[in-house]
Amino acid sequence: MNANLKVNRENFNELIVPVYAPAEFILTRGEGSRIWDQNEKEYIDFAGGIAVNALGHCHPVALNALMEQAKKLWHLGNGYTNEPVLALAEQLINHTFADKAFFCSSGAEANEAALKLARKIGSLSDNPNKNEIISFESSFHGRTLFTVSAGGQPKYSKDFAPLPAGIRHIPFNDLEAAKAAINANTCAVIVEPIQGEGGVIPADPEFLKVLRQCCDEVGAVLIFDEVQTGVGRTGALYAYMNTDVTPDILTTAKALGGGYPIGAMLTTNRYANQFSVGDHGTTYGGNPLACAVANAVFSFINQPEVLSGVEERHQYFVQRLAEINQKYPIFKEFRGEGLLLGCVLKDEFKGQAKKIVNLAGDEGLLALVAGADVVRFTPSLVIPFADIDAGLLRFEHALAKFQ
Ligand code: PLP
Repeated sequence: MNANLKVNRENFNELIVPVYAPAEFILTRGEGSRIWDQNEKEYIDFAGGIAVNALGHCHPVALNALMEQAKKLWHLGNGYTNEPVLALAEQLINHTFADKAFFCSSGAEANEAALKLARKIGSLSDNPNKNEIISFESSFHGRTLFTVSAGGQPKYSKDFAPLPAGIRHIPFNDLEAAKAAINANTCAVIVEPIQGEGGVIPADPEFLKVLRQCCDEVGAVLIFDEVQTGVGRTGALYAYMNTDVTPDILTTAKALGGGYPIGAMLTTNRYANQFSVGDHGTTYGGNPLACAVANAVFSFINQPEVLSGVEERHQYFVQRLAEINQKYPIFKEFRGEGLLLGCVLKDEFKGQAKKIVNLAGDEGLLALVAGADVVRFTPSLVIPFADIDAGLLRFEHALAKFQ
């Protein structure tokens, strides 16, 4: 196919390995929280590239950083360090519990690094069996074989056996199950402060405290997967900051680059220094172009007025959603924090979240599902209130058709 030929949606089925089922339209450009398709139809973006486009599309802050760095230096490889990666590491460290950062290009890779570090820490301990990882049912940690095995959704891993051994899944938010499962052979517990893909399910504060206590008692590391909740998504810079619990390792990606692929694993000196040169790595980790964009995006989001704006938008969303739900009583609950919002379908509509998202697309609204029973919104953290109104009106129209 010639690059000059106009492509269409059928080409996707011919050309792309069929692991995705994208919408029937092709989006071509975006600005802020509005986005247009090949036919110039306009959409309001409540999907945000699955919690990635934290500043919307083509935000001047991200755009300028990208253009400036693009004129200087794109890539080096890890035989040489660079200025943007050091500046980004410093920002992340200054504003979190961490002392050191490891960079990569995605959330799965950040978790892969965290899980490998946990195993290394276990292997350096006195206990030769300290290698078990505790994870939770319905969790999601990425698609590499290790991370998909750590994830608690068997539908994503069942066809890829044999899976890495030594991972146990227990019910989420179950204090007694956690106390019973975490023992001297546990090297790590990995948890999302809010399960995103699993249905926008917040961890109980008490549950996180118990995980912290159990990890301390047995000498296991507590990993917070903040790939979806991090960088302002919940209204805090990181979700752990709204709990009384500090993890030993934190993974971050998605919003960190505002659309430019980047991920990071953050940890303390105590744990970071158990990795040695050659233990782990990736060609694109710390890529100057990615880090320059992330520097700009992170420092913009990490301003009090931007973070409090997320909470204001949250309040606005849930109030308007409650009004819509009085007219079209389809949802039993709205949950989540900040701009990670889950609209939970009533039992009689179970399994139909995707249908609502498709109807929303027809009305000119991009939204997401989180499992079969939850419609999820993860819009830009700076979405204008007028765009929230316009998007929710389109949502209301979709719900009218659904009913
Ligand atoms: N962890 C969490 C909590 C996620 O939500 C995701 C993606 O949705 C991942 C990890 C995987 O990130 P990526 O798709 O960038 O590999």
